[in-house]
Amino acid sequence: MISHIELLEIAHQQLVATYNLPLVLASYIVAAVAAFSSIRLARYAEHELVYDWRWLIAGGVTMGFGVWAMHFIGMLAFQLPIPVAYDMLLTIVSVVPAIIGCSLGLSLLRKTLPYSDNLRRVLSGTIIGAGIGAMHYTGMAAMRMNAEFFYDQRWFFLSILIAVILGIIGVFAEKLRDYKSASWLTLPFQISSAAILGLSVFGMHYVAMQAAIYIPGISSHTPIEKTLSPVVLSVNVSLASIIIAVLALVAVRFDARMRRVQKNAAVTQERMLSAIESIRDGFLLFDENGTLLMHNGIFAGMYPNLKQLLKPGTSYESLLRVWVKGRETFPGEMDRESYIQKSLEAFRNRTHPVIEQDEDKLFDGRWAVVSQNAINVGGLVSVWHDVTAMKNQQDIYKEMALTDGLTKLANRVAFIKRLEEAINRNKRLGKKVALMFLDLDKFKPINDLYGHDAGDFVLCTIADRLSGLMRETDLVARIGGDEFVVVLEQINSFDDIEIIARKVLETIRQPIEFNGQDCSVGGSIGISVNPDHANNVDTLIKLADDAMYKVKEAGRNNFKIHDPGTSTKSSVG
Ligand code: GH3
Ligand code: MG
Repeated sequence: MISHIELLEIAHQQLVATYNLPLVLASYIVAAVAAFSSIRLARYAEHELVYDWRWLIAGGVTMGFGVWAMHFIGMLAFQLPIPVAYDMLLTIVSVVPAIIGCSLGLSLLRKTLPYSDNLRRVLSGTIIGAGIGAMHYTGMAAMRMNAEFFYDQRWFFLSILIAVILGIIGVFAEKLRDYKSASWLTLPFQISSAAILGLSVFGMHYVAMQAAIYIPGISSHTPIEKTLSPVVLSVNVSLASIIIAVLALVAVRFDARMRRVQKNAAVTQERMLSAIESIRDGFLLFDENGTLLMHNGIFAGMYPNLKQLLKPGTSYESLLRVWVKGRETFPGEMDRESYIQKSLEAFRNRTHPVIEQDEDKLFDGRWAVVSQNAINVGGLVSVWHDVTAMKNQQDIYKEMALTDGLTKLANRVAFIKRLEEAINRNKRLGKKVALMFLDLDKFKPINDLYGHDAGDFVLCTIADRLSGLMRETDLVARIGGDEFVVVLEQINSFDDIEIIARKVLETIRQPIEFNGQDCSVGGSIGISVNPDHANNVDTLIKLADDAMYKVKEAGRNNFKIHDPGTSTKSSVG
């Protein structure tokens, strides 16, 4: 470097340089394109939630190469009247400060850094400018010719100042976008920023070229044969830098699209999981190999014993085996192993549904209907629908169908069923079953005299008394208006029956008072005995009914045991 005074002394000797204008323009375009590409890459790196260093480095490398290419096209545009070549090693090395400066500068633009926005931008622009400057002067040092050159201090400092100031302005231009939220402004701001950053590189270069003074006749250190021709160098370098810039932009677009696809897939997956979680049935999904893919919380709540297995990767068979362990009944009276085999076979054959009418009682007493269906794309969906409420309702209806609404005793339907069961049971035990058919005496007048409520009260009182009198195993039922039946099981002798009949009559006769009125009643009882009189329900009922009518005819308030002979056995209570 030489001072202004020294410069004046040698100025008359210097070589006069000329410029090829189209190449000058081309050098600017290369710089601006590289700057544009690097800005987009740096922005993209910052767009991601996690700062992506790869894209930032790609941005730094692209711009660094751009600056380098710009320099050598600029050198091609610069024509000295003597041959010029370049030292290969220094030429290559000169790209390093540009890449480092641009990468560092771009990294300073990150919003997450603990400095103010303006400080970051000034630092960023300065470092980018410094990197450009360092590249230029390293590149200049690679020049080989039969001349020596010196730098004019003033132009030298001016060139550095231009690089830094335009670098800072370029960075601010891009960042101006932040003050306007409209996304369509992004591109215009990025283009202007690239134009200014390009100008920073360009301005720096051509001002720096002004700083150099070439004095002929002094041989440079490297023989010219070991150097690169400027044409080959600049064409290759500029082509490479444009290709890098374009490839980087294509890559960033591709990456952005990939990320969008991944994000969409993640959103779809998330949406599906929430949908499955929000349904009120237990849900399992298996793939075509029988591997568990998904389950929901409702299913986990239904089967806490399967908790350990509820993770992706568990096989259908292992889940099935643990599940059936806790299960008591299987459809169609299948045993446990057949159920497993049938389910596996249905899964393999894609039978639809896997098993029909499948109900399972859960650990907490709830009931679930299980439906397992093969799905078209391969795999299996199992849905556990809670049917506890429906089952409870069914139980209520069943109960209602078998109960007398007024007295809550068993009704006629339940009585017939229970009598049948009692006959079978006692047959095995070798015991008798006695059927007592009871019709209240003179009940109707209570209704007529004291009202229907009084009649109801009497019926309920008699029902309670009969229930209280009988053993747990005996049955008391109301089968008509004032008609009751009692089924006595495990009877050994007729004497026992008579004792109970007397007790029944006794208890009926007890006074009943309703609203201060005496509503006491009596009863007539006809009795038939299994197996002595008949083995079937209908005949037993008929014989007991006949015996009861005989009591009525004989004056009521008594019992009669059917007598297969001419007379019926009777006893006055
Ligand atoms: P008997 O001595 O010959 O048996 O004559 P009864 O007065 O008891 O009359 P009967 O057995 O022929 O008829 C029973 C009456 O019971 C007929 C009906 O008015 C009455 N009744 C039927 N169901 C109910 C009921 O649910 N509540 C009330 N309060 N009365 C009923
Ligand atoms: Mg009656």
